[in-house]
Amino acid sequence: MSNTKYDVLIIGAGPGGIFSAYELMQKAPDLKVAVFEAGNPLEKRHCPIDGDKVKSCIRCKTCAIMNGFGGAGAFSDGKYNITNDFGGTLYEYIGKEKALQLMRYVDEINYTNGGQGTHMYSTAGSEFKKLCMQNKLTLLEASVRHLGTDINYVVLQNLYAQLEKHVDFYFNTPIQHLEALENGFRVHYEGGEADGEKCVVSVGRSGSKWMEKVCRELDIPTKSNRVDIGVRVELPAVIFSHLTDKLYESKIVYRTEKFEDNVRTFCMNPNGIVVNENTNGIVTVNGHSFEDPAKKTENTNFALLVAKHFSVPFKHSNDYGESIARLSNMLGGGVIVQRFGDLERGRRSNQKRIDECTVRPTLNATPGDLSLVLPKRILDGIIEMIYALDKIAPGTANDDTLLYGVEVKFYNMEVQLDSNLESNYPGLYIIGDGSGVTHSLSHASASGVYVARKIAGIE
Ligand SMILES: Cc1cc2nc3c(=O)[nH]c(=O)nc-3n(C[C@H](O)[C@H](O)[C@H](O)COP(=O)(O)OP(=O)(O)OC[C@H]3O[C@@H](n4cnc5c(N)ncnc54)[C@H](O)[C@@H]3O)c2cc1C
Repeated sequence: MSNTKYDVLIIGAGPGGIFSAYELMQKAPDLKVAVFEAGNPLEKRHCPIDGDKVKSCIRCKTCAIMNGFGGAGAFSDGKYNITNDFGGTLYEYIGKEKALQLMRYVDEINYTNGGQGTHMYSTAGSEFKKLCMQNKLTLLEASVRHLGTDINYVVLQNLYAQLEKHVDFYFNTPIQHLEALENGFRVHYEGGEADGEKCVVSVGRSGSKWMEKVCRELDIPTKSNRVDIGVRVELPAVIFSHLTDKLYESKIVYRTEKFEDNVRTFCMNPNGIVVNENTNGIVTVNGHSFEDPAKKTENTNFALLVAKHFSVPFKHSNDYGESIARLSNMLGGGVIVQRFGDLERGRRSNQKRIDECTVRPTLNATPGDLSLVLPKRILDGIIEMIYALDKIAPGTANDDTLLYGVEVKFYNMEVQLDSNLESNYPGLYIIGDGSGVTHSLSHASASGVYVARKIAGIE
């Protein structure tokens, strides 16, 4: 069995892994670095759904949307939010100013590697803050660079072209086992192993089960208590255009009157499309949009999510989210779509009603009844929020507004880390969404830069 020696092993080639490798290449070019990735190189990542022969998710062994160079972010909308208000809690470990600084640094790299000409939007000084407040809604502060799915891809291509000259990439190489040695770490994969003095683990959401196993085996403390559950809303783009033209993405929070739960908008995609997402074999819904005008649709989509926190004795918040998603998969064979009017009338949507709907769905989902899937408390919160949004964007509560379910935002359990993002094993850094610290492209990327600088000894 082959064993190659490296200075740094990086597990996962999502934004966290890529930016660790990139920063090491810049700041410590003499270090020998390897990146191990379960999925394919970027150009070989193809989801088999073509809308013709393959209409819905066939649950591939590794999901082309979630795995491979670029990670879960490769075909994402490429929205890099520069904020501490959402997207993760990196600032709790490294400080607010440092976190923002690193997010701006990542933005600079994206910008100079193909992102020129893309827009940076900002909520600063926006008149919508007041409008939201007047309607019991809160608009969160952020600047957002919208690369779009197409430019995001170009940036990744450009980063890879530079990285491949300095870094050994192992694709289609899921790491099966991570071993702590006396002086470093060993990764085991089918047919080989590699040793490294330092190890950066950045396995994202798709690696959450594996990460749990590693923490159990190495006795790394973790905690887990949150999952976000909701729907993706799709409506004519014109209804939200006054907001999206100025802000692109608005993160709006509403506190429900009935239960005092927070419902929030998430991942807004003006003129975008709704897509399937496959996490550990469970099909949920997500969305993205393109910068290229030719690929824009007439619809805007965004998620409405309710955060569910659990206390004792229940510890498995993700399993709870998975069970709800499984229900929709059981009833609809995948994602379910329902007209808001049908939901309000207590009836399922059927194909005829969807065909007659004035909003053309951009995802081929099964017409059904979301009230059979979502817990009442969550559904009530979503309905209240739709009426609240209707006040700042009239038309949101139209009968023909489409709701796709379910959207679940899984949170990895939080790994116990110090302010270096280092575990109780010196030299073992756990970053990105897999650490539970980040939930976004910009935070995951920033965490990668941060640990690379720690390894290079310059922070
Ligand atoms: C459709 C979609 C749209 C999104 N849109 C946005 C957006 O616009 N803005 C935003 O901020 N966020 C968005 N996100 C979330 C964003 O993509 C993630 O927050 C980000 O990719 C996290 O980066 P990461 O490096 O931590 O993990 P990931 O990107 O998940 O990368 C982890 C990588 O590790 C690999 N891996 C896992 N286990 C192993 C193993 N055992 N061995 C080797 N490799 C392994 C995986 O194959 C994967 O490639 C979106 C996500 C999806 C799915």
